[in-house]
Amino acid sequence: MLKKTSHFLREANLIGGEWVQADSGQTIDVTNPANGQKIGVVPKSGAAETRRAIEAAHEAFKTFRKTTALERSKMLRKLHDAIMDNQDALAELLTMEQGKSLTESKGEIGASAAYILWFAEEARRTYGDVVPSPWADRRILVTKEPVGVIAAITPWNFPSSMLSRKIGPAIAAGCTSVIKPASQTPYSGLAWGALCEEVGIPKGVVNVVTGAASEIGKELSTNPLVKKITFTGSTEVGKILIQQSALTVKKVSMELGGNAPFLVFDDADIDRAVEGAIAAKYRNSGQTCVCTNRFFVQSGIYDAFVDKLAKASNKLKVGPGLEVGVQQGPLIDEKAVEKVEEFVADAKSKGGKVVAGGNRHQLGGSFFEPTVIADATPEMKFMKEEIFGPVAPVFRFEKEEEAVEMANDTEFGLACYFYTGDLGRAFRVMEGLKYGMVGVNEGIITTPEAPFGGVKESGLGREGGRQGIEDYLDTKYVCIGGLGL
Ligand code: NAP
Repeated sequence: MLKKTSHFLREANLIGGEWVQADSGQTIDVTNPANGQKIGVVPKSGAAETRRAIEAAHEAFKTFRKTTALERSKMLRKLHDAIMDNQDALAELLTMEQGKSLTESKGEIGASAAYILWFAEEARRTYGDVVPSPWADRRILVTKEPVGVIAAITPWNFPSSMLSRKIGPAIAAGCTSVIKPASQTPYSGLAWGALCEEVGIPKGVVNVVTGAASEIGKELSTNPLVKKITFTGSTEVGKILIQQSALTVKKVSMELGGNAPFLVFDDADIDRAVEGAIAAKYRNSGQTCVCTNRFFVQSGIYDAFVDKLAKASNKLKVGPGLEVGVQQGPLIDEKAVEKVEEFVADAKSKGGKVVAGGNRHQLGGSFFEPTVIADATPEMKFMKEEIFGPVAPVFRFEKEEEAVEMANDTEFGLACYFYTGDLGRAFRVMEGLKYGMVGVNEGIITTPEAPFGGVKESGLGREGGRQGIEDYLDTKYVCIGGLGL
């Protein structure tokens, strides 16, 4: 049934099917980054509320684990339909708290629904094995079982879809969960609680707690009732969670930071590369883990590429996400703008040439101009650090091997992109890049059917694809003996 945006704006935790406040009664303000106005509040919870949510999930698991795959698949289909029925309201809520354009928010909500549908289908395909036995009187079975209670912590940049890739496989596998959304964008996370409740997912299967990150995170990663922790966010916090989870040897899935390179060779279709570059750089105002951080362009087409990229960047319409036609919203907060300014100042001081943007946008607040910096060099900060903003540094290279080497010169390994018209080069470069995901002549590659995730310090595990449910399942080997055969 169609609901209003305000219906999903929940100012309470969901624990064991009850909407409840923090024990202390304290709250956190949630503001709209486009105008700085307060949207509402959410509970400032801590370890005690988290513990109760874990216990509720543990209790719910006792019966939820016995539901059939078909039953869970049907629940997820209903959840998918409820999301799509309310796509507009959920997208408006997302733009209000996160800032991205309404078009992008609708896309994100659509992607959330698509992940849920994918896992509705995968729920029924968690096959085990019957293995040929080396003993005549024994049989060997390998079965898959839900791991139990899982904990999910998500960032502010994709507050809806990052949860769909965790809630979807958890329900599909028969796990129950405790979710902690980012404090700047908690409503899209709480909306998952409301949606699950409305489609009849049993109480306690999905619990949502908002509040003090380190306290909640500590409880989630050390409580022995939690069997798996899945985190999307910075590498820094990911490392803390891995360490804390070691104490009770939990399964961990980590979707962490990136430093995506985007290589354009002399033989590439430049217009297609520029189109891909705009999408891979400025989506969500440059605030995605798979956003291009560094462009490497071969010298023969360098000037033409920079010129076209600058022109296309200048055309992007910047403004409040709820306004019609806006392509780039504000950055999440003032701190993010200051960080982007630091990257630009650092590049300028080392010889970088600003050929588009470069400044705060005239709209003020946390709006920033889409920016292109030519003559980038490896000494500049963005060679090693994630920009997380609308700044496109363009490096020049001569040889293929040099470009691949520079692209790999980072501790991150999430997404990368390259453009070429040469098939042999496509395979050489694809195989040479140390990344979890590669876009060849494509700038946007995320889809539920494919495994999303990184190598090196960009993470552990995969979300989506047939791999996406594996981390929510334990493998059990059963040897049946004494068969007298
Ligand atoms: P963040 O600071 O790591 O925060 C992510 C989440 O962790 C938030 O819910 C945050 O809560 C929580 N958190 C912070 N400190 C914590 C602690 N000590 N223990 C437990 N939880 C803690 O990251 P962010 O700035 O929100 O997000 C940007 C980062 O996410 C970037 O590095 C980006 O590349 C990465 N990212 C990766 C992927 C991927 O799939 N690989 C996707 C999207 C984003 P509060 O909000 O309450 O502080």
